[in-house]
Amino acid sequence: MDKSKRTAVIAGNWKMNMTPAQTEAFIKELAPMVAGLDGCSIVLCVPFVDIATAVKAAEGTNIHVGAENVHFAEKGAYTGEVSAEMLTSVGTEYVIVGHSERRQYFGETDVTVNQRLTAALKAGLKVIVCVGETLTEREQGVTLETVSRQTKVALMGVTADEMKNVIIAYEPVWAIGTGRTATAEQAEEVCADIRGVVCSLYGKEVAEATTVQYGGSMNAKNAEELLSMKNIDGGLIGGASLKTADFTVIVKAAQ
Ligand code: PEP
Repeated sequence: MDKSKRTAVIAGNWKMNMTPAQTEAFIKELAPMVAGLDGCSIVLCVPFVDIATAVKAAEGTNIHVGAENVHFAEKGAYTGEVSAEMLTSVGTEYVIVGHSERRQYFGETDVTVNQRLTAALKAGLKVIVCVGETLTEREQGVTLETVSRQTKVALMGVTADEMKNVIIAYEPVWAIGTGRTATAEQAEEVCADIRGVVCSLYGKEVAEATTVQYGGSMNAKNAEELLSMKNIDGGLIGGASLKTADFTVIVKAAQ
């Protein structure tokens, strides 16, 4: 598989951290640190209330702004939710769907992940769709089955052409926010399997062009090794994306 056929994407997932004022200060600090590092796309996925501030602060830089979730309906009685059109209307370019914290705490299922993904694509967003096994699933030896199922269901109804706006993030649940990272070999095995699933659905050309990220305690120390693997094209980064210095080291490792 030829890595040059796809774009590396380093995306931060801020989760429920940072106010608008902190967002502005963070981006002003980060922008000069990552200026000219154009060997990967740099994305910050931020809380809804921070998006407008982030978009303004990132103007004229190589930093792109994303959201952490999106609803599947265009509008209506969905208290507390935000539609894809609302996101694009304030300059959002990317969105995360199916993060394991959404699956775990907010009842997200493979089917609702698919609904959110297709709604976001329709609105022109680039979508980072998260898949990954729990510790129990890994111990039961069903990691590849679990991740393949999540990937296949997430991509239901997505066309080959739309795949250019889909990024798949392999995030083993047991590695998220725990400080416990998958080894580069474990991450590579699953990312290669995900690419195989994309190949079986869309063919080799689409599979070779699809960005597959690793996420789960990626940090300034382990990023280089993980990103050197053949099938790992970037990272989805939680904790380490809240520190400009650490995030910059990861961006540099992806060049
Ligand atoms: C995440 O939230 O997607 C994530 C990978 O978090 P962390 O890097 O903190 O494990």
